[in-house]
Amino acid sequence: MIKIDALPAFSDNYIWLLQDVERRRCAVVDPGDAAPVLAWLAGNPGWQLSDILITHHHFDHVGGIAELKAATGARVMGPANEKIPACDLALSEGHSVEVLDHALRVIDVPGHTLGHIAYYQADQHWLFCGDTLFAGGCGRLFEGSPAQMHDSLGRLAALPDQTLVYCTHEYTLSNLRFAQAVEPANARLAERLREVTAWRAAGKISLPSTLELERATNPFLRCQEPAIVDTINEREGLRTRTSGEVFTQLRAWKDSF
Ligand code: ZN
Ligand code: FE
Repeated sequence: MIKIDALPAFSDNYIWLLQDVERRRCAVVDPGDAAPVLAWLAGNPGWQLSDILITHHHFDHVGGIAELKAATGARVMGPANEKIPACDLALSEGHSVEVLDHALRVIDVPGHTLGHIAYYQADQHWLFCGDTLFAGGCGRLFEGSPAQMHDSLGRLAALPDQTLVYCTHEYTLSNLRFAQAVEPANARLAERLREVTAWRAAGKISLPSTLELERATNPFLRCQEPAIVDTINEREGLRTRTSGEVFTQLRAWKDSF
């Protein structure tokens, strides 16, 4: 059995720690800082870090790789189309990798960065999606186009309802506040905002989320929703819009929200 915990890093990053409890082996996703992982290993003697999974090249995701690899000899895997420090395994769409005896499928999700990848485990329903899909939102477009991000999110949104969304940042509350401005009449969203507000006030993590909940409350996955199309049409001047155009306007609105 694999147990997954979040190791907090910087101000709002999470380093996901996958633990094979029986064999005392573990893996981490996007260790932007080595210190929280090394501290965990120091507190759990006898455990071996076997793998380091990277979703994209930003410093807050790759900053700890060199130190962790030097300390543990862990295998480093990351996107083939980006420069990842000390990368042993270059991955892209369709590749499958074994991590702690579980097969992870690689999905290309360009948008936040051009080579961004996500890792999906079909039996356990894990999705490690970096800065592409966030709880209640999506990543900023640093390198890709709105069309690329819209397409990438569409591919993630096609995964099953029970998929567990392990994204890298605790942005949920601010994302849901924006979502409510976009879709004030969404009751499920209002309920989620209340729930996450309470969790955060108590210092609790808001992740992982599920794809079912994201499809019901994340505006960036709801660009075909008539209420959202209407809101965008009102803001931008009335005309019929494609979901790609709605996505583009939503992303631009969120950037200045
Ligand atoms: Zn990033
Ligand atoms: Fe990030």
